[in-house]
Amino acid sequence: MARVRLDNVTKRYEDIVAVDDMNLEIEDGEFVCLVGPSGCGKSTTMETIAGLTKPTAGSVRIGDTDVTSLPPKDRGVAMVFQNIALFPHMDVYDNISFGLRLRDYERSEIDRRVDRASDIVQLEGMLDRMPDELSGGQQQRVAIARAIVRNPDVFLMDEPLANLDAKLRVHMRTELQRLHKELDTTIIYVTHDQAEAMTMSDRIAVINDGRLQQIAPPLTCYNEPANRFVAGFIGSPSMNFVDGELAAGGLATEHFDLAFDVDGLSAAPGDAVTLGVRPEDIYPASDADSATSPSAAVEATTDVLEPMGDEIFVYLTLGEGDGQTMTSEEAAAASNQLLMSVPPDSPIGEDDRLSVVLDRSKVHLFAASGEAIAHGVAAPSATADAPDASAETAQAGAGTEADSGGTSHE
Ligand code: ADP
Repeated sequence: MARVRLDNVTKRYEDIVAVDDMNLEIEDGEFVCLVGPSGCGKSTTMETIAGLTKPTAGSVRIGDTDVTSLPPKDRGVAMVFQNIALFPHMDVYDNISFGLRLRDYERSEIDRRVDRASDIVQLEGMLDRMPDELSGGQQQRVAIARAIVRNPDVFLMDEPLANLDAKLRVHMRTELQRLHKELDTTIIYVTHDQAEAMTMSDRIAVINDGRLQQIAPPLTCYNEPANRFVAGFIGSPSMNFVDGELAAGGLATEHFDLAFDVDGLSAAPGDAVTLGVRPEDIYPASDADSATSPSAAVEATTDVLEPMGDEIFVYLTLGEGDGQTMTSEEAAAASNQLLMSVPPDSPIGEDDRLSVVLDRSKVHLFAASGEAIAHGVAAPSATADAPDASAETAQAGAGTEADSGGTSHE
């Protein structure tokens, strides 16, 4: 086990900045996923830790040692890659023990380590098989066992499950979590798949354009994303974003206004602010009681429905709608669209006129810079001249709103 620390690591390839001033601290025994879109610098970050590439600036520490200039073999790390690369002419035993034999370990020590590793990855009884007699998942387990026998302080895994089919990938995720528990060692894992990162990690490091956006436990990234990028990247389907302008009593957007208490926000009336709301935090108005703090009703028309079995994704067009049915891709890209998820027994159909509410306690606000300025907002306090709920959509700026449960403030 060892702690891994990157201090101001930058890696430049001519005019490309692959990693940009990265500061990252990974604790002893932690399972951290580096996640982000393709080309964001995940692998390059991993390679600087492994010693496969030297950073242009900054330093890498593993345990108490500055390893920035050490070769990979002296860093106490073992790597598992997407491309499994087993030796096709060697059986499982020889593949797993290859590195140990190269280093002239005693035969008894090699046997002991191979036994333990094959036991951990559940390959007992398969040590004399050849790689072409193994499934993709079994081959990947051989690659992991090959890393385990080295007793590394840190495991580095770069998309190790990417070549497996979807079902096996989900199964191997559980296996890797079990492996982590059993080995109690530091694992740094690269993936572009946010679901993989969400399910396995102690903490997720979200990277974009070579920069660390947030490092936090999965649910913190989900519930309190540091910025709009993290908010959009973590969670599937993605969070809805609606651009608007902050007013004295909430947010005014093109199609609806959302009233809330703006006191204490680090944004002022007139500032451009983007509202973020996840599909599960939007409810049909008839089900408004399910929301902790439902907003006033927002009028919409349903477009495409996508039944998923355990829920239905409903694409909503705000306002009157034009009666045109869009594909889900077109709908997601349009500015007047919201995606809502509803239970599978919902009676909602296509082209229905529908009132929906947003759960104010779950919405997010982002400044024009993208930084998050609120996770959840409070209903505005009642005032003597509060208008009824229908007025909210017309005048968020007035700072008043009727109670969403349907009872008006008098
Ligand atoms: P990711 O792993 O997130 O897909 P990478 O770390 O592989 O991203 O790449 C980050 C950026 O650095 C990309 O723009 C990529 O094209 C560039 N890059 C990576 N390796 C090299 C290299 N050896 N030479 C030039 N550019 C590279």
